[in-house]
Amino acid sequence: MDINYLLNRIRENITILRETGWIVSEPRSPEWWGGLKTPGEIAISAFLVQMTRWETVVKVIEKLRSEGLNSPESISSLKTEEIEKLIRPVNFYKTKARRIKSFSEEVLSHGGLENFLVVENRNILLSLEGIGEETADSLLLYAGNQLFFPPSEYLRRVLSRVEGRGLSKLQAKNEVILTLPRNLFTYKLFHAGIVAVGKRFCLLKCPKCETCFLNSICKFKV
Ligand code: SF4
Repeated sequence: MDINYLLNRIRENITILRETGWIVSEPRSPEWWGGLKTPGEIAISAFLVQMTRWETVVKVIEKLRSEGLNSPESISSLKTEEIEKLIRPVNFYKTKARRIKSFSEEVLSHGGLENFLVVENRNILLSLEGIGEETADSLLLYAGNQLFFPPSEYLRRVLSRVEGRGLSKLQAKNEVILTLPRNLFTYKLFHAGIVAVGKRFCLLKCPKCETCFLNSICKFKV
């Protein structure tokens, strides 16, 4: 599969991307991530969003913002129980409060988020509770502006179906990073585009191939 052809189809259908909440802007802007305003908000939301609707996450982030607690640095001074109260609307808020607290303390010990979210600290990120490869690489790409492409179930499913062969998450990611032009804007655009296809069209059951903008090249289309 020509990954760059997929990239072009995503570029041509950028409106759909915007409708799913990805705001395409200049490469280093945090707005890509659902319209959030700072890298700190992206980092906190990466924990909140697990098993939770994005709309709920945004409400919690807005509350944190209004109280000046929308960064790992500021939230690290709170006790875990205080974080629990602030994020209570999200699912599994107790577990997430504990994870946010430990992530925030790690950020603080590295002198802030900008210093922490760099390539050299990827293994430290992966050692923290609640951070797998997808979250680590999403944080590095969208909050740290580092050139990492996050593996995801959406990417695995869409590429597997388009190519008509079963791929693992790692195989799908490797295929992308071997061929995609290495720059921040392209990495963010391609990742966001595949998420949009996965959410809007390429559903696990009953994919909406009739309206999917990849249907002319997809081997799976129904
Ligand atoms: S055409 Fe269907 S199977 Fe192929 S990517 Fe689109 S929704 Fe998924």
